[in-house]
Amino acid sequence: MISSVFSAERLLFTPATPKSDAIATIFAFPNEYSVGITSLGYQVVWATLAMRSDVRVSRLFTDVSEPLPSQPELLGFSVSWELDYVNILNLLESLKIPLQANQRDRHHPLVFGGGSVLTANPEPFADFFDVILLGDGEQLLDNFIDAYQAVRSADRQTQLQALAQIPGIYVPSLYEVIYRELDGAIESIQPISPEIPAVVQKQTYRGNVLSASTVVTEKAAWENIYMIEVVRSCPEMCRFCLASYLTLPFRTASLENSLIPAIERGLKVTNRIGLLGASVTQHPEFEKLLDYISQPQYDDIRLNIASVRTNTVTVQLAQTLAKRDTKSLTIAVESGSSRLRQIINKKLENDEIIQAAINAKAGGLTHLKLYGMVGIPGEEPEDLDATVAMMNDIKKATAGLRLTLSCSTFVPKSHTPFQWLGVNRQAQKRLQFLQKQLQSRGIDFRPESYNWSLVQALLSRGDRRLSQLLQLTRNFGNSLGSFKRAFKQLQGKLPELDFYIHSHWSTQQVLPWNHLQGPLPSSTLLKHLADATSKFHQPSEKPEKVVAKC
Ligand code: SF4
Repeated sequence: MISSVFSAERLLFTPATPKSDAIATIFAFPNEYSVGITSLGYQVVWATLAMRSDVRVSRLFTDVSEPLPSQPELLGFSVSWELDYVNILNLLESLKIPLQANQRDRHHPLVFGGGSVLTANPEPFADFFDVILLGDGEQLLDNFIDAYQAVRSADRQTQLQALAQIPGIYVPSLYEVIYRELDGAIESIQPISPEIPAVVQKQTYRGNVLSASTVVTEKAAWENIYMIEVVRSCPEMCRFCLASYLTLPFRTASLENSLIPAIERGLKVTNRIGLLGASVTQHPEFEKLLDYISQPQYDDIRLNIASVRTNTVTVQLAQTLAKRDTKSLTIAVESGSSRLRQIINKKLENDEIIQAAINAKAGGLTHLKLYGMVGIPGEEPEDLDATVAMMNDIKKATAGLRLTLSCSTFVPKSHTPFQWLGVNRQAQKRLQFLQKQLQSRGIDFRPESYNWSLVQALLSRGDRRLSQLLQLTRNFGNSLGSFKRAFKQLQGKLPELDFYIHSHWSTQQVLPWNHLQGPLPSSTLLKHLADATSKFHQPSEKPEKVVAKC
């Protein structure tokens, strides 16, 4: 029987009727339905598959599923949170599919994956997937299904070799990673035969019609929300930022062809609209979009905006949000130190931050949340004093506005200029320092878990050797202690935990994702890194052999 969660759905597309020989496919989200169905990426991929008559797709979540085929040919996962790997392994087990790709045979489906986690660095999860789709799904997904159709009746190895020829399709088992020592750095990553491309290029969609919800439901984590992607990527290129660097170039949805038609489609089924994107207010026609939404006939729209660039917070924006049922706004400021903001290329001044807070209050918002970060490369203790002083200044300028500073720890991310830099060992103490200083001044401070940041760093810089570690850790639980226990158990078979998390890597080092090409060449990332490190006070914080020119 189909679970009631599916009957509550209102679809905004027309599924095709599958042909009798359609490819039996399971498309999974490795978390609960309410989380998965709130992922725009998951919704769009599912709808793309469901609109093909040569695919018969069933959805699977950790708590519910549609009726599943007894012999699926394809099993896909959309992965947007690293720690969901545990659920991927659990779902594979529940479907009686071997966890490791090299243990599967013609009786098992091809297991494919996509999404932000796998596009950034699939290597820790490489052993679990037959195929990984890198980058934007718009054309890639159809190319994948078409290519699979062409080799559907071939043996598994032939299928994999054919799929590996398609741009953006990565077949991990067709690449050999050689290590200097079992527990040392990577020596080289090579395709196992000359027919396999040496480098897989992440795919970039270049159209001006971006994604919008394909389903609206009261069971979503954001109840009844209709999501519209306003921009993709972010042109700011803060040096640590995966949301910018991994998805470049910055693309904007056309107001006439994409945004307005999407809003009109969405308003037929709900009055709650979410505008998504790494930097929504940087859309060149954002004001026109606001004007459109501000028309009297849309007075009952509830509006959620994912992220707002600090110096685009105007009184008009705050008024529109306040009128549309939003009482708070979040801005990412990272630090109160202008030197640190220069290091990370955040083009923002303290008086702009204070002005944004004044505008938010003047427009009728009651709560301003700021995002900050500790352990930013090049950070010195006086930079934390600057953050405390800035928060104080905002408080003085906006009496009555509730202020929250949420603070994370810097985590290096692949394909960014800071990918070579480790997590600062002082970060936890720095979070505690800010907590003490701000709470005594009546400012709400919300630190993100330091231990969780360490796990994130491990997975974001991990290589293939972590697949065995992840299988082990899964049985120990999700804490940092579980990862440490697994490292101990595998001692000698992979580098120490410190190597992945805290070490500054040499810029000459072969990176685990060396064979996976992101939007920018390494030479550009090195240039941006050199620009940042030239502003450090402490030379010891720089990775070895940074080259100033490439
Ligand atoms: S402004 Fe925000 S989204 Fe854009 S690059 Fe900086 S941190 Fe990333």
